[in-house]
Amino acid sequence: MSSSPLGSRGNMDILEELQLIAAQNLERLEVNKYYEVIRELGKGTYGKVDLVIHKIRGTKMALKFLRKKTTKLKSFLREYSISLYLSPCPFIINMFGIAFETDDYYVFAQEYALSGDLFDIIPPQVGLPETVAKRCVHQVAIALDYLHCKKLVHRDVKPENILIFDRECRKVKLSDFGMTRRAGSPVKRVSGTIPYTAPELCDTSRHEGFCVDYSTDVWAFGVLLFCMLTGNFPWEKALPTDSFYQEFTRWQRRRTGTVPSQWRRFTEQALRMFRRLLSVEQDRRCSVKEVFGYFSHSWMLDGDSNGNGGGGGERERERGGGGVRVEGDGSSTSSSSGEEDEEMLVERMKQQTLSPLSPPVSVERGTGGTKVGMTESGGGHHFVSVSTTSSVPSTNSYDRMPRDSNSNQPPGRILVATPIEICV
Ligand code: AMP
Repeated sequence: MSSSPLGSRGNMDILEELQLIAAQNLERLEVNKYYEVIRELGKGTYGKVDLVIHKIRGTKMALKFLRKKTTKLKSFLREYSISLYLSPCPFIINMFGIAFETDDYYVFAQEYALSGDLFDIIPPQVGLPETVAKRCVHQVAIALDYLHCKKLVHRDVKPENILIFDRECRKVKLSDFGMTRRAGSPVKRVSGTIPYTAPELCDTSRHEGFCVDYSTDVWAFGVLLFCMLTGNFPWEKALPTDSFYQEFTRWQRRRTGTVPSQWRRFTEQALRMFRRLLSVEQDRRCSVKEVFGYFSHSWMLDGDSNGNGGGGGERERERGGGGVRVEGDGSSTSSSSGEEDEEMLVERMKQQTLSPLSPPVSVERGTGGTKVGMTESGGGHHFVSVSTTSSVPSTNSYDRMPRDSNSNQPPGRILVATPIEICV
């Protein structure tokens, strides 16, 4: 057994080491001296993300600014080090190894995703073409599996955190590791839920803390899949008071054979996959990599009127798959129907950018009494669910989910907040 300093350093936790090194090397810089700021890419209560050009190298980068007033140095170092640690995965955002501080901010540099994030390209009430959704899902699943193999839990899986690197949405990467913690870490909930929040975390009657677990990522990943394929959230909150959720759990727990109205657009195989990903009992939820077993099946039913190019149901199955071919490196290419889907997607992206104020549209779907409609207001696009199954119709409209709970959101923009959990 070696007792050399090298031996003991080898055993030292790599994440801790990365944080210590980052802390030691954290310089104070003036942003404008080294970077030309092009435009803001995103912002939140935490701070902002700016597109910049490195003045010496000419490289485009995304600089993430975390406000010192609201971010502890420890949290900044953790987010930076985790991002750096995970960046070798081809489907996780890459880093430049640059971290510094200004008077007001802690800052780190990431590669720039030129097509923004997934939230902006999911057509509300329509969803992405199946081939495109599958390709994204495949890449996100590889990223999450990588993270889970490293014993980390992302804890904020949602479209806003999936960045797109080309116009055709061929390459996406997982980003934002601000909430990421080691599996098994004790945390306690402070407040708030979003549609991606797993039921065990929504239960406000549970005041005790809980341990960070992979299964919460799996749940969020299941909700994400639903959003990508339909352009709707399946529910507002995974709570019995939410009629959409209640309908789903009755079917999920086999109390009824009737597939909930919002879920009738999926094939049997897709429903089986959702049942596994969205198991209400945390310990019965499958792992993220189980989705790899479902890619050869079609997910959307034939004749799906949402025009999402789900393409083909039975026909596609006969052709031998859902239109996505997975390459050795984990990326995927699409068949010819996939190419048509992509053209449709690019067209839609153009339309969304050009006409953000298109008139509201309502589509009656199925016999279950659930209507889904598209509304666009205030120049942004929303996912909307309108239930007519309950006596009092519930209208859930969401815009981007903030990273932090913030009661001062502009009215009508953000209705629900991300849970904030603090390590204890
Ligand atoms: P974040 O707080 O890291 O989730 O960033 C907020 C928003 O900024 C994201 O939802 C993206 O739209 C945008 N953004 C963040 N990082 C990047 C990046 N590396 N490239 C392009 N856009 C980004």
